[in-house]
Amino acid sequence: MTKTVTLIKGDGIGPEVVEATQRIIDATGVKIHWEVCEAGANVFKKGLATGIPQETIDSIIRTKVALKGPLETPVGYGEKSANVTLRALFETYANTRPVQNIPGIRTPYSDRAIDFVVVRENVEDLYAGIEYLQTPTTAIGLKLITRKGSEKIIRFAFELARSEGRHKVHCATKANILKLTEGLVKNVFEEVASDYPDIEAQHIIIDNCAHQLVLHPENFDVIVTTNLQGDIISDLASGLIGGLGVAPAANIGDHAAIFEAVHGSAPKYAGKNVINPTAVLLSGVLMLRYLKEFEAAHMIEQSLLYTFGIEKAFTQDLDKVSPLTTTAFTDRIIHNLGKETDFWTPRVYKPLQISPVKDLVDKDSRTTVGVDIYLESPLPAEPLGKSLEEIALPSPFYLKMISSRSVQVYPPIKGITTESVDHYRVRFFRKEGLPAIEDQDILDLIAKLGQTHQWMNMEKLYEFNDVAGFTKAQGES
Ligand code: NAD
Repeated sequence: MTKTVTLIKGDGIGPEVVEATQRIIDATGVKIHWEVCEAGANVFKKGLATGIPQETIDSIIRTKVALKGPLETPVGYGEKSANVTLRALFETYANTRPVQNIPGIRTPYSDRAIDFVVVRENVEDLYAGIEYLQTPTTAIGLKLITRKGSEKIIRFAFELARSEGRHKVHCATKANILKLTEGLVKNVFEEVASDYPDIEAQHIIIDNCAHQLVLHPENFDVIVTTNLQGDIISDLASGLIGGLGVAPAANIGDHAAIFEAVHGSAPKYAGKNVINPTAVLLSGVLMLRYLKEFEAAHMIEQSLLYTFGIEKAFTQDLDKVSPLTTTAFTDRIIHNLGKETDFWTPRVYKPLQISPVKDLVDKDSRTTVGVDIYLESPLPAEPLGKSLEEIALPSPFYLKMISSRSVQVYPPIKGITTESVDHYRVRFFRKEGLPAIEDQDILDLIAKLGQTHQWMNMEKLYEFNDVAGFTKAQGES
């Protein structure tokens, strides 16, 4: 049966590597109808701020599968990356990046048995891109992590392990410092792991994970992590196996999947017929498996192994002495389709089953116990504190503390001098013995405070089942 795939050639080196991949996939005999669509630099330049025309969106809605080249956001056009927009529009929440040593490619790690997959959450975290300049000199960004998003990516990682016959999943987070955001991911990982008793589950602090990846990469099988951490460690991981020219990726969601290389548009090589198409080709292999075209995927993988491992034929990123052009390399891969090697035991891939998220959300009690108000003030902490205490006096609140850059500056911590800036977080708690805080209490406090101070933002302080849903400032008792 012919399958239809949306094909986005992309910018810079994109058309060269995507067309090479398209030729190789077609040469396997698999029946794919390519629906060629536009996105990226040219679309931005036509004045479309998203860089993605509606026809391209409609095509992916229809086909549910896209193979794409890298996209650029040209300077002066559009604020948001078309790549990130595509991932967000189709909620492709799972970014998977397989990392495997390819025999024949010489790297400092050539003799190591590296074979793992980084599963990076692809929608949430700081990549939600919620940022504000709260004062002319202070910017903040929100790290947004949800229980649902965490559960989806963690279940995906365990299911991927099962579908690829892998035995271990590491969850890499910074839960030791970011207790509520990264901590949520760790907690959900520990809950979900019990549904997969056949797979070893281990939490690892992300910085140790980076360290271990360099020292003992062979110890990893699947690593699931948050968006920004995953961005960094997956690039680190691609460096272990030969670089961006051979690093594939898949963005998978419940309703669509977008396959693309890790690399960008490398504009300085565009049109020179020198670039390595392997990363997009291996992304095409991931796509074929996603489409359950396991035989065609196997053929391409074996041909690549033969070309690298037996013929020692490479493009210039991997061979400075006698490199092949992109076209000649592509021709070699096509020529070698059907050849088998014996130096890589192929995995037995099963279709990926993604189990639905369970409703783990605890809907029990929630109490508002206070409010954090962010304000800009030229005052030092001491007079600011006195002024705010006075404002709070007739209200249901008392001033718990003021922090600057998350360090408590009022009441002062004995012997500590912190460099304050004009950006403060002011924490008010409900006075002992008073009834629960109402929204109107908070609004009245802000209205009063606003008469003498410039506030920018407020955050309600909740307790869920008597446990604080907010963290303390450094030094806060
Ligand atoms: P890049 O990945 O395009 O290139 C960095 C370097 O990596 C290149 O100079 C080259 O030496 C090497 N390289 C990359 N791909 C290669 C390949 N296939 N074969 C051999 N060597 C390869 O990164 P960049 O220069 O930082 O970004 C260029 C543009 O690409 C930017 O506009 C960026 O926003 C965009 N970008 C897009 C994506 C995407 O579409 N998913 C990802 C990253 C960057």
